[in-house]
Amino acid sequence: MTLPTARAEGLILCETCGLVCDPGDRPDPHCPRCGAALHVRKVDSIKRTWALLIAAAILYVPANLLPVMVTYTLFNTSRDTIMSGIVYFWKSGSPDLAILIFAVSIFIPLAKILCMVLLLVAAQYGVDRGLRQRALMFRVIEFVGRWSMLDIFVITMTVGMVRFRSLATIDAGPGAAAFGAVVVLTMIAAHTFDPRLIWDRSEKKS
Ligand SMILES: [Zn+2]
Repeated sequence: MTLPTARAEGLILCETCGLVCDPGDRPDPHCPRCGAALHVRKVDSIKRTWALLIAAAILYVPANLLPVMVTYTLFNTSRDTIMSGIVYFWKSGSPDLAILIFAVSIFIPLAKILCMVLLLVAAQYGVDRGLRQRALMFRVIEFVGRWSMLDIFVITMTVGMVRFRSLATIDAGPGAAAFGAVVVLTMIAAHTFDPRLIWDRSEKKS
């Protein structure tokens, strides 16, 4: 069954202003309303999303292995990774905070990368099962993306809280930069992925 999509009718939806445009025979069509370049689908969506996800997956390693927080006290210097911070909160009687940090800093970024990889592979090979589930998965990823900066907020808050409690100097470690990069890269990856690809490839087959 072919559904009446804009593409099937030879029309292009402007990604900037949402106007449905007739590109005609022009080789390089632009939106008549807002002037943005028109593309049937986001340009090189799969390639760009792969590149961003691979970069995010690589940076996920230093984000978890390198210290996100360096504490200087009068007597020593301690370096904390995300995991050692979680263990610290767990042992010091704040299991709720430990679980929150684990969820937003370790579980969600990893789950986002894995789900995006699944969406990409399925779109690339034109898997035609679980289309609605995948569309829902993409919406969840997009929704979570809006709250991704919460991860960084948690780290900032932790730094603030520790500063408040002790006579120590605290700096963000190199892991924090890697972690921030993971968050930003996965957000851009969700943006470069064209969810219409989920449906396109399956329609081509039938
Ligand atoms: Zn437009």
